Amino acid sequence: MGFRPLEHKRDVSVCSLMRLMQMICCVLVLQGIFLSGAMADTAKVLGARLGVYPDYTRFVIDLDREVDFTHFLLPDPYRIIIDMPEIDWTAPPGNVTAGGGLISGLRYGLFKPGTFRVVLDVGQPSVVSKIFLLPPGDGKSYRLVIDLVPTGRDAFMTASRDSMQAYSARSRNDTSSTEQSADVAVSSGRPGNNKPVIAIDAGHGGVDPGAIGADGVYEKNLTLAAARELAKTLTDTGRYQVLLTRDKDVFLRLQQRVEIARKANADLFLSLHADSIGDSKHRGASVYTLSENASDKEAAALASKENKADVIAGIDLSVENSLVQSILIDLAQRETMNLSATLASNMVTELGQDIQLQRRTHRFAGFAVLKAPDIPSVLFEMGYLSNQTDAKLLQTPAHRKKIAKAVLRAIDQYFKQHEF
Ligand SMILES: [Zn+2]
Repeated sequence: MGFRPLEHKRDVSVCSLMRLMQMICCVLVLQGIFLSGAMADTAKVLGARLGVYPDYTRFVIDLDREVDFTHFLLPDPYRIIIDMPEIDWTAPPGNVTAGGGLISGLRYGLFKPGTFRVVLDVGQPSVVSKIFLLPPGDGKSYRLVIDLVPTGRDAFMTASRDSMQAYSARSRNDTSSTEQSADVAVSSGRPGNNKPVIAIDAGHGGVDPGAIGADGVYEKNLTLAAARELAKTLTDTGRYQVLLTRDKDVFLRLQQRVEIARKANADLFLSLHADSIGDSKHRGASVYTLSENASDKEAAALASKENKADVIAGIDLSVENSLVQSILIDLAQRETMNLSATLASNMVTELGQDIQLQRRTHRFAGFAVLKAPDIPSVLFEMGYLSNQTDAKLLQTPAHRKKIAKAVLRAIDQYFKQHEF
């Protein structure tokens, strides 16, 4: 696994007027920030380095000021997670790109508002022998230094347990994850009316980039752009109230996404994604709904890939797995599944008129994000980022508008069919 930087890729098609407006907004926002002094302490990453020594691997982050940090270890796969307050990491990460020594991969990004996360993948069980912040000296800035040494699985598991205990003791005063996610979700449309609520879930985000296109585009940025376009299209009709599970580049747990929709009493849940596979010729969109058993091997593989978002962000799934598994497929859920299938089939019909679909679309797979027992849910893979045509189209606002209009027609039909 190589290095994956998570900085924003700018949408190339933003027109200059928009850019000017953005700049004006930025200035206004920055003024507000300076006036309040809220972001004055945001540390900036100046660079990162990797040092491989005979008995340890050293990872260094150069910073322009002091930061608070905390870390823990997770197994299966082995990972070292370092959390810091929100920092600004736009600097290139130097020689860490290729990985080296005990480190096989690096990811970083916003984990949740207020928390920036760095995830180091380690190819074999390795523990943190030292982690400390060096003050400036010898012409160098502040440095966060992490030394890793190899160990066995048992020692790793013990260190992981200890580190998790220390971590949760530290964050015990934090607000719950649901409260935090409320800051992230954004709804539009007038509240307090009887309009159906459509939850739109932009897949991935923050520390989890999702698939990465051949041209370097990130799935997380395309899903957000598509979610915003769809939200606008639905809101503009005046018939729907729209809820975005995220409206910025932030990580959300799969379960959080569902919780946000449930809290808002959403009538539909639509998760947007764009996959990537080895065969670069393969293209087309596909619509998925939940089933206990995947309809085919490919659908199962995709579900397991999408379900790994939490692993990528460094979350211990041992607690959550049992929770997810305990959701029984009862009668209520069967009804939900029928409704999901109705929406999915409408989407296939409508999208099929405007964009390229895969030959066998509307497939079933065990996506964790579709497991709300009471909200009809569909996962929409808008295309393949591994395919040049799909990747290019998905970066085009006109194409995303086409998609949004087709989905609107499918949703309109759905509500007509069921007369809610
Ligand atoms: Zn995805």
